[in-house]
Amino acid sequence: MKTLNSEKDLKNLLTQERLKNKNIGFVPTMGALHDGHLSLVKHCVRENEVCVVSIFVNPTQFNDKNDLDAYPRTPEKDRTLLQTAGCNYLFAPSEKEMYPEPDTRTFNFGNLACVMEGEHRPGHFNGVAQIVSKLFNIIGPCKAYFGEKDFQQIAIIQQMVKSLHLNVQIIPCPTLREADGLAMSSRNQLLSDEQRRKAPLIAQTLKESATLATNKTVREVKDFVTNTLNKEPLLRVEYFEIANRHTFTPITCWTETTLPIGCIAVFCGNVRLIDNITYFVPQIQTN
Ligand code: AMP
Repeated sequence: MKTLNSEKDLKNLLTQERLKNKNIGFVPTMGALHDGHLSLVKHCVRENEVCVVSIFVNPTQFNDKNDLDAYPRTPEKDRTLLQTAGCNYLFAPSEKEMYPEPDTRTFNFGNLACVMEGEHRPGHFNGVAQIVSKLFNIIGPCKAYFGEKDFQQIAIIQQMVKSLHLNVQIIPCPTLREADGLAMSSRNQLLSDEQRRKAPLIAQTLKESATLATNKTVREVKDFVTNTLNKEPLLRVEYFEIANRHTFTPITCWTETTLPIGCIAVFCGNVRLIDNITYFVPQIQTN
């Protein structure tokens, strides 16, 4: 595995690979890698002749400076994990390399960026689109891999690819979980032992809500999730919404859409955790 910090060096190497007709796959990350990231890398290695992984903690997607400063960074360990997973090129640029001048682009994602993560993290998706579009331009991948843990992010990236006419296929990959159900996240490292013991309640409650969905209303399921989690003193629900999985418009009735998605953000102390669940609710036949 080669590690590159400069855009120019990476582009030169990837041009050589393209001249040899090699397919390039890409996994963007912010590092502090765990098995969830590595599952994306494994998909990428399996499906492409060349696998590029980027590690860059992108300041423009953080709406909270303290969150950016506290974000975990484990560069040495990350390198070893990527090498073992079969990554060919690790791109780890500096902030100056990615933002030689301030990025003033504003993306318009409509409703997609106005609800849930978009509503509670103003500017977050604009920052995501800024960095991912830059990385796509540098790397020119055929396929790029994203985790369904960040479900709304995938929709944003797909919309960006469409509106910029980019030639890259977005591959969604399932969420990897710890044995107790907690969605893997770099932020889990920031939890105290006590918080770590309580955090799995998020995934467990979502799972339980999926079984309630067959005989409870949307309102009742939403209340169940919010109340159950808020009863735990170490957890505080920021939002929980059940929505159309394509438009992210909140639903009020199960029959409004097929396979609605429940998306949640919960503070566990100062650590903000997100997760989601798909509701398999039988649709009432109307004809
Ligand atoms: P991040 O480093 O948090 O920006 O994540 C980089 C990529 O890894 C994103 O596409 C995430 O959705 C994905 N990812 C993060 N956690 C998981 C997980 N538990 N399972 C699968 N993919 C994940």
